[in-house]
Amino acid sequence: MVQALLRLLIRAGLLLGLLACASWAAATPPVLDLTAGQTRAPLNAVTRYAVDSGDDAAAMFARAEAGGFQPLPADSTAFGFVDQAHWFYARVANANHADTRWLLVLEYALLDYVDLYVRQADGSIQHLQSGDRRPFTLRGVAYRHPNFWLQIQPGQPLELLLRVQSESSMQVPLVLYTPGAFIELARDAQLGMGVYYGILLALLFYNLILFFSLRDRSHFLYSLHVLGFGLVLFCLNGLAFEYFWPQRTWLANAAVPLSMAFAMLAMLLFARDFLELPRRAPLANRLLLGLIGVHALMLLASPLLGYRSAVMTGTALVFPGVLGVIAAAFLVARRGFRPALLFLFAWAMLLGGTAVYALVSFGLLPKTFATEYGMQVGSAAEMIFLSFALAYRWAALRRENERIAQEAAEQLEQRVEERTRELSSALEQLGEAHARLREHSARDGLTGVFNRRHFEQNFAPLLAQCQATQRPFSLLLADLDHFKRVNDEHGHLTGDDCLRAIAATLQHCAGEAACVARFGGEEFAVLLPGVDELGARRTAEAIRQRIAAQVFALEDGTRLHLTVSIGIASDSTGAVTEPAALLRRADDALYEAKRNGRNRVVQGTAAA
Ligand code: GH3
Ligand code: MG
Ligand code: MG
Repeated sequence: MVQALLRLLIRAGLLLGLLACASWAAATPPVLDLTAGQTRAPLNAVTRYAVDSGDDAAAMFARAEAGGFQPLPADSTAFGFVDQAHWFYARVANANHADTRWLLVLEYALLDYVDLYVRQADGSIQHLQSGDRRPFTLRGVAYRHPNFWLQIQPGQPLELLLRVQSESSMQVPLVLYTPGAFIELARDAQLGMGVYYGILLALLFYNLILFFSLRDRSHFLYSLHVLGFGLVLFCLNGLAFEYFWPQRTWLANAAVPLSMAFAMLAMLLFARDFLELPRRAPLANRLLLGLIGVHALMLLASPLLGYRSAVMTGTALVFPGVLGVIAAAFLVARRGFRPALLFLFAWAMLLGGTAVYALVSFGLLPKTFATEYGMQVGSAAEMIFLSFALAYRWAALRRENERIAQEAAEQLEQRVEERTRELSSALEQLGEAHARLREHSARDGLTGVFNRRHFEQNFAPLLAQCQATQRPFSLLLADLDHFKRVNDEHGHLTGDDCLRAIAATLQHCAGEAACVARFGGEEFAVLLPGVDELGARRTAEAIRQRIAAQVFALEDGTRLHLTVSIGIASDSTGAVTEPAALLRRADDALYEAKRNGRNRVVQGTAAA
């Protein structure tokens, strides 16, 4: 019975003890023990926080001890934009670490006022200050993040109480470093950032040089884009405060919204130019012009708005700006502008990084290395890619120009060809007209056979040709008999008809090779190259008989008969070189034919 009671008491005691322990655990925050070999110790797990209610440090220490502070929500110190100051409380002790000197780093650059109260085991409190509204020189080491030196002796635990007030987003990641570990961290981080800003500077100067040499506005706007983006990150990283204006604390704050507005403005101007919106998408162009106006206003107004409103408005304005650019790029890409695809690809990388950064600053994503530097990696990739896209676009433009030039050259060539064809056809027509004219001038107007001039021009060459090739040559002179009577009795027009008919008969009998000409009046001459005495006689006889047999039926019913007398002169030996001599011989033969009674053929002789 007693034993049972005792057991009950013990159980009750144990339960009470456990309860007491539990309540003590809730009241007293855990201690971070620094153990041998440790070089870096994040404080998140042991940090408790409270929202400021106007109490001083001593009151807050008491409140922390009494369990009035809460664990961090989801183990994160990213609270987003909050109005009140926040207090953070943590206890650290050196369990067995050789290093007693530690650097407490607050790994967020933009906090305005940071007050650290360090309470020693003996109750003494030390007050240290930092933040970007206070001079840079207050920091433990000259570094872009606020930091404080701490002495943590074994057996002498420290209580840390941190008061943070800021218009920026509230992010308070606290980490303890041994001096060696901090040097390594700083070295790696500075190298990484050096590489990043090195890339940006190289792109900036390279594209400025391209702008000055090519006079292409896109390169200038791209340089502004790089400059703007680089400035924003330089401010956000705390490097602008460290290197540009360590004493101008108001500028450390104002530079953030200013650089954001400038970067957005430059980005919109660049996108509008690169995507050739005025020409390719007038509506999207107007949209972007509107956004450009808004950001230009933002640039002017941000110093007046105050940090918090300026940054929140600026950050909120990033979204329509980005959406506008993406929509415009999609539009022109769909309309077949290929550089827009490269632009979109580059943008996807930047947006990934920026979205991550924005989510961290609104407290929606935990702050890790990947989330903190994703923006740098994304933006560096974007800018390198955009520089490539710019070169691609430049090349595409050049190809387009070359194509236009080639087309123009081809058109010109075609036109020249056309003109040449027209010209040569005109020349041909002219030649034909000329030939017709020459032919015309060689013909007799009444009878259509050759005229006297043509006869005279051709007589000597034809004779010479036959002599040179040792071929015979003959000449006929034919004169109509008593033709005067025809005119007198039947009229001149009837005479003309008869002359035409006679000329046709002459041409028919003499053949194609012969040259039949009207020698004058009713007298005709026939040149017969290649025809000897016998052939000439046969031709002359055929002419004479055919004319004699021809009946000229007149309109009044009378039937007219005509005869012709023909004199022949031939040369088969090449002895006669003078056309005149041959002509005279033929004329003499003709005279003899007339004298001998007409309607006959007489062969002229050399002696005659
Ligand atoms: P023949 O030669 O037999 O001695 O007698 P003929 O009457 O032919 O003699 P002549 O040479 O004197 O006359 C030629 C005539 O031819 C004179 C002219 O009336 C005629 N004549 C000459 N040229 C033309 C012409 O172009 N048209 C016409 N209708 N008659 C012409
Ligand atoms: Mg006559
Ligand atoms: Mg005559």
